Amino acid sequence: MTQPDRVWFNARLATLDPALPGLGVVEPGMVAAKDGRIVYAGPLEERLLRQATERIDCNGRWITPGLIDCHTHLVYGGNRAREFEQRLDGVPYEAIARAGGGIAATVRATRNASEDQLVASALPRLDALLADGVTSIEIKSGYGLDRDSEFRLLRAARRLGQERRVTVRTTYLGAHATPPGCTNLDRYVDEIITDHLPALNGLADAVDGFCEGIAFSPAQIERIFTAAQGLGLPVKLHADQLSNLHGAALAARFQALSADHLECTDEAGIAAMAQAGTVAVLLPGAFYTLRETRLPPIAALRQAGVPMAISTDCNPGTSPMTSLLLAMNMAATLFRLTVTECLTGVTRHAAQALGLHHDTGSLTADKACDLAIWSVTDLAELVQALGARPLFARIWRGQ
Ligand SMILES: [Zn+2]
Repeated sequence: MTQPDRVWFNARLATLDPALPGLGVVEPGMVAAKDGRIVYAGPLEERLLRQATERIDCNGRWITPGLIDCHTHLVYGGNRAREFEQRLDGVPYEAIARAGGGIAATVRATRNASEDQLVASALPRLDALLADGVTSIEIKSGYGLDRDSEFRLLRAARRLGQERRVTVRTTYLGAHATPPGCTNLDRYVDEIITDHLPALNGLADAVDGFCEGIAFSPAQIERIFTAAQGLGLPVKLHADQLSNLHGAALAARFQALSADHLECTDEAGIAAMAQAGTVAVLLPGAFYTLRETRLPPIAALRQAGVPMAISTDCNPGTSPMTSLLLAMNMAATLFRLTVTECLTGVTRHAAQALGLHHDTGSLTADKACDLAIWSVTDLAELVQALGARPLFARIWRGQ
């Protein structure tokens, strides 16, 4: 076995090794890494400990894989706090929207922001997530809604991955909302297909859409997905959040990495996802903020063996949340996910939702050495506590 440059020993491991039951707990255990990759994770190996250049005593702390936030709209201009206040003061949403509020306000502020400004305003949000042990994050465009603004968002997202020690996956979400002033949505879809997607040139790792009565129709999404696949880009979908347009089944038909939200998904959609290996990404922050009452079909997803991931959905309107630990708590409290499901949902399953499961999301040999080390005595504390800061250390690529 390779001589490690660094080991973490005297630890309790939740390896998330798919070959082990539950969280793949090993205690006491150790993790050994070389050049940023895990070479060993398991029970104490005296020889590796002796050989390591650097030995870190974890004093019995828990180590999990670094957390993965697999669905965010982290980069945008402005904020919508004033609207939040107006709604609480009794101003109807309709009136706010008529006055140019809602998503249109974010689009306006985003279009007026430079790439530097977008990076600067997103950094505090990213830092908050990193303080929760996040080592990989997905960031979507979707507030530009014209080619230049969408691409500026994606470039800003890529730059965040250079500003901080974190893996960033970018997703093109031009089909997020109707662009301001657009009267023919099919024409905009044409523009996405002929003008946006072919020019991405590596700027996006995947293509997403919002399939909903108030957004894009299944037929429009299907055209975009067909074009994306023609360019070799994987797809994912905001599906069945407010109504059942059979978005989950549509996503599965295109072997989508994930279908997200899913409050209104039916049995057929779940069966299609199970068949296609599409991950269900649950977004309890949006459910909470919108005060939704219809729960996603957790029991049916569980029974069908659909992998469930949990994410913040960090965005300025419907989920202004920058804590993945809080998202886990909401998934447990609102959706009744178990502690094991919550932790798997922000590690191994979240990695799968990004197509990164060969690289991260579990403590197994050959994976990136992305770790979160926690000052808790029981892993359930990570899910139960509200507002706690239990992270002891965050390791990205071995450092
Ligand atoms: Zn979203």
